[in-house]
Amino acid sequence: MTATGILGLGRMGSAMARALTAAGHELVLWNRTPDAAHALADELGGRVVPTPAAAAGAADICISMLADATAVDAVYAGPEGLIAGAGTSNVLVDASTVPPSTLRAHEPAVRATGAGILDAPVSGSVATATSGALTLMVGGDERDLERARPILQALAGTIFHLGPLGSGAAMKLAVNTVIFGLNQAIAEALVLAEAAGIERSRAYDVLAASAVGAPFVGYKRAAFLEPDATRVAFALDLAAKDLRLIGELAANLGLDLPQAAADLAVIEAAAASRGGDRDFASVAGYLSERRHR
Ligand code: NAP
Repeated sequence: MTATGILGLGRMGSAMARALTAAGHELVLWNRTPDAAHALADELGGRVVPTPAAAAGAADICISMLADATAVDAVYAGPEGLIAGAGTSNVLVDASTVPPSTLRAHEPAVRATGAGILDAPVSGSVATATSGALTLMVGGDERDLERARPILQALAGTIFHLGPLGSGAAMKLAVNTVIFGLNQAIAEALVLAEAAGIERSRAYDVLAASAVGAPFVGYKRAAFLEPDATRVAFALDLAAKDLRLIGELAANLGLDLPQAAADLAVIEAAAASRGGDRDFASVAGYLSERRHR
């Protein structure tokens, strides 16, 4: 078994590295800020490489998990980028949440090296990623997916192949349209119940046991009930980034999505008030502090 490259060792990338290690895969690690890669290698083993190009030289399947499209462009392009190091043995898989256009723009250069390319954004959380139970939404060629599948299976409970490159990115934005609506609705429901005299944790119990008790409601419990004692899983700034991408994709397709626009306005206001590095469940605290009496 050859090693697997993970590029971008933030909250999700490092959780995915843990899942791959647990499944017995050797890792090749790269992060823009090298300290994170060295710390993870100390914990999990694996080889730290100095550039994305070196990762492509050392690992056939290279998975990037990066903040946004600017980061993906920085990691794919340039003399030290993934594409510069890629060849026929590689499949480059991007799992970041980015617009469908991001990977499509890199496809010709990747194909010219003989490598395969997939977009495979994920639905789930840090906990789901750590346990290898993400849902993967894949766009790209079937042959490339089959080459990457043995690795992707260590990360995902379910893998959907949705069509050509960019299809995964589009579906991910559709899924997040629901996630952000749900996050906002939970926050509003908790603040409403609490203001009406029902204890917040009791209200959460009811939501979780009700018709809306989706997995998201289960795994965000601590973030909503004990925000200061719970590690950030998904930052407000990243949520705002995703909601802007949703708005842009909708506009490009001639669609108007009023709920997503409203969700973005609240997420931006919460980030301005409480800090963009707080978890996106902190919209509940933001709405609570805005109570006028
Ligand atoms: P994160 O903890 O903020 O990590 C971001 C990663 O991107 C870091 O490794 C960072 O490197 C790297 N990065 C940022 N800008 C870069 C640049 N210009 N060049 C190279 N690397 C750069 O974010 P995360 O929560 O892991 O999320 C990663 C992606 O997964 C995002 O697209 C997010 O929307 C998506 N996602 C997140 C979740 C979640 O629950 N957190 C769930 C599903 C999908 P440094 O360490 O050097 O800053």
